[in-house]
Amino acid sequence: MTATRVLVLNSGSSSVKYQLLDMRDSSRLAVGLVERIGEETSRLKHTPLTGGGAEPREREEPIADHEQALRAVADELAADGLGLDSPELAAIGHRVVHGGLKFTEPTVVDDAVMKEIERLVPVAPLHNPANITGIRTAQALRPDLPQVAVFDTAFHTTMPESAARYALDVKTADEHRVRRYGFHGTSHAYVSRKTAELLGRAPEDVNVIVLHLGNGASASAVRGGRCVDTSMGLTPLEGLVMGTRTGDMDPAVIFHLARVGGMSIDEIDILVNKKSGLIGLCGDNDMREIRRRIDEGDEEAALAFDIYIHRLKKYIGAYYAVLGRVDAIAFTAGVGENAAPVREAAVAGLEELGLAVDGALNSVRSDEPRLISPEYARVAVAVVPTDEELEIADQTYALVSGRNA
Ligand code: AMP
Repeated sequence: MTATRVLVLNSGSSSVKYQLLDMRDSSRLAVGLVERIGEETSRLKHTPLTGGGAEPREREEPIADHEQALRAVADELAADGLGLDSPELAAIGHRVVHGGLKFTEPTVVDDAVMKEIERLVPVAPLHNPANITGIRTAQALRPDLPQVAVFDTAFHTTMPESAARYALDVKTADEHRVRRYGFHGTSHAYVSRKTAELLGRAPEDVNVIVLHLGNGASASAVRGGRCVDTSMGLTPLEGLVMGTRTGDMDPAVIFHLARVGGMSIDEIDILVNKKSGLIGLCGDNDMREIRRRIDEGDEEAALAFDIYIHRLKKYIGAYYAVLGRVDAIAFTAGVGENAAPVREAAVAGLEELGLAVDGALNSVRSDEPRLISPEYARVAVAVVPTDEELEIADQTYALVSGRNA
């Protein structure tokens, strides 16, 4: 029997998201999520997608750590006849947030790879440790199976030095590996490729600005299928206004808050990463709620929206200049896929750049990639739902089956 299944694991600090896919037709066999790992009551939500039934099963019980979480997931899968001991399982694909400069491709994990992912913990202290735990646990469950790391940073390793380097003292930067790495790479890779497909052109011939607007948000400039710039930097803090992160800000604000505001570095870290962005500006980070408040005349929500859009426009303009020629702008992720007013406002007034949105097309709701620009527009504006799990599964399976991704 040929093994054609791939389990995708996305391990966060207190959660594990998973999907089991059959790569013969990229179909999902089961999806699920374990949340609040290590807290008093954890929650496992498992949805089997085979046999016509898609009824989710939920369990609330204490789950102490990632190992217990993965064992619980394995039990749920086994209950559907999809156990991890199945010979049909070809590999486990892991989302790993930080791959530094070394990992430009999906990589089968061995001891040396594991060491390198550990070496990157100082530049990704919140993410890489959870990813490492996820890989170790999966290895313990199926030591014979290839574990493949798919890095969030990999797609951005093609950025030229002119875009990747900060104008920081070179010696200091190199000593501490300070440079722009970028994140959400799996999504930017998938969406830029799908956008070329939507246009009926080869990725090598297309220049795209991808706007990944979720709770975390990032933009990228993709020339002929290769990333040439992206808005996140050393960490995911840089760039666009996000749900809870500031995005770009004069770094001296941090000195000011420490020296004048008497805040500690850890307090500022939490402030700029978790309590700022949309939630810091108006108390809400959900774009649905912000739009509802704006419709009711709420000025605080309206200003937060305007700040969000202003930054987005700046990046569209900047990446237009970086690319020189733009064939398409693609909106993706929770906000990008669902919030028509964000898409409309982001390109409003940019007709001179060949950009426009058709109101009727923009208001259509769909899970399919689609164009929302009018026929006459020089630049295609697209909504392209992202699918990071499918991309991870695809890259994982391509690697272990010897097929090109
Ligand atoms: P993500 O991180 O990609 O899952 O995106 C999550 C964010 O998408 C939420 O915080 C919301 O701001 C936004 N979102 C999800 N659904 C909608 C919707 N129907 N309309 C507007 N925004 C949405």
